[in-house]
Amino acid sequence: MDYGKLAELIFPNIKGTVAELEERFPERTLPEGAKVTRFAPSPTGYMHIGGLYAAMISRKIAKQSGGVFYLRIEDTDKKREVEDGVGEIIRSLKEFDLEFDEGPFAGGETIYAPYKQSERKEIYQICVKELMKKGLAYPCFCTAEELDEIRRKQEEAKEDLGYYGKYAVARNLTYEEIEEKIHAGMPYVVRLKSPGTAGAYVRYTDPIRGNIDMPENIMDVVLLKSDGIPTYHFAHAVDDHFMRTNLVIRGDEWLASYPLHKQLFELCGFELPEYVHISPIMKAEGNGKRKLSKRKDPEAAVGFYLEQGYPSESVLEYLMTIANSNYEEWHMANPDKTIDDFTLSLSKMPVSGALFDMVKLTDVSKEMVSTFTSEQCYEKILVWAEIYNKKLYEFASAKKDDFLKTIDLWKISGNKVRKDVAKWSDLTELFGYLYVPEEELALSYELDEKYTKEQLEEVIKAYQKDLFLDSDNWFGQMKLLGEQLGYCPNVKEYKKNPDGYKGSITDICTIVRVAVTGKKNSPDLFTIMNVIGKDRTEARLNRFLEEVR
Ligand code: GLU
Repeated sequence: MDYGKLAELIFPNIKGTVAELEERFPERTLPEGAKVTRFAPSPTGYMHIGGLYAAMISRKIAKQSGGVFYLRIEDTDKKREVEDGVGEIIRSLKEFDLEFDEGPFAGGETIYAPYKQSERKEIYQICVKELMKKGLAYPCFCTAEELDEIRRKQEEAKEDLGYYGKYAVARNLTYEEIEEKIHAGMPYVVRLKSPGTAGAYVRYTDPIRGNIDMPENIMDVVLLKSDGIPTYHFAHAVDDHFMRTNLVIRGDEWLASYPLHKQLFELCGFELPEYVHISPIMKAEGNGKRKLSKRKDPEAAVGFYLEQGYPSESVLEYLMTIANSNYEEWHMANPDKTIDDFTLSLSKMPVSGALFDMVKLTDVSKEMVSTFTSEQCYEKILVWAEIYNKKLYEFASAKKDDFLKTIDLWKISGNKVRKDVAKWSDLTELFGYLYVPEEELALSYELDEKYTKEQLEEVIKAYQKDLFLDSDNWFGQMKLLGEQLGYCPNVKEYKKNPDGYKGSITDICTIVRVAVTGKKNSPDLFTIMNVIGKDRTEARLNRFLEEVR
């Protein structure tokens, strides 16, 4: 067979050469040891938390080595694509402060562009044409029925499934047969003519898993689909070579494809990059664990964290503890440092699926929020609320000083830092009495059964006469008020003689607290009332009286 002639028959319009591509996309000049990594998602409109994890790791490795982190959009499957899927990916990652050095966005285009696979069709075809000229690729006209038939025979004979060896019948087509089919307009794919040997092994050394021996690839896999678009495998080899990636960090579902990828790089004459296969994020279930599923677990989607208002720092911090279990200890020893100062080690990454634990994330996040200043919280809440909680946004932007006071309230108690808030949606959940507009506020009163209706009414009515909101000794005033009603101002004394009183100052404060906030426990009540103001406080006392009546 004259392979040159075959290549011209299949690709009459492809004039470029691989040598020209080598020149157009030259090797990068970077310092010794610098890693060029990438994030290569498909724009399906859904970003999985595992994708964020992979992006964080790839970016971190690039940054800590003085390298480059870029975004490549793998949009070869048009059926799964959604409108603005690319914008969605870029925005979500930006919200987590994971910015790219290069990619398909304004300011990101370099000589290595285009960064979308759908715009690189010619590049792939140049490479396939060259393989074909060398007799390493051929057109295959097999129909779906013919492929099914091959599969049936292989299943019957208990042989490996796939297009290879004696089953790869299109390998044997003559030039004339191919020409006839092409002229008849028959659809075809282009396959690799694999030179692999059955029974031979390739050794792969993964930084996480160590040495792995895998069977050499013998399959004549599809390189170009019938629409001329490459498969993932071929696009991976071409793109990671010409974008000059030197470290491919990807999910371990691709581990088994390593022998094929190695073969593709070799046959194309490309230098093989290093690879790392990271294990997926799992969820505990019963005694075992399973992959976080898009269908079953809302927390599988990155959008969930954005919507709930987890600060990006918390999510990344938690993902880092999953990536390197020594991170936590390091952070404890270096409390003033952040993940940017930490050196991530690929070899210390978990070998099998790392557990994602929402309770742990909540703890990490409470800790993180407690390290923000009130002003920082304010800025972050504003950004979140503008999208996810319009009413809160209105309050925060219209009354910054009042809003800052509410932040201080739940952040600091006396000289202690409180750790109640893990995510911004907690604000209305825990402190609705501060943040929910009066007419929408639903209070359920956490009242101890020991209080009688009459008692509650008596206390609230007495308090309604003067709320002491201007007083510089509110607690002292409350003690006096209680005393007049028969409540002991001193808790210790009351404990010694409980029958001598109706209750103690604690009861007085609890009753007012529940009336105003619905809750038995809250941050400083005097400040709460001052923040919500006299009118709203009075309205709540009235409302409480009506409820208990
Ligand atoms: N588009 C592939 C995926 O989403 C990328 C895998 C890779 O990083 O090479 O799984």
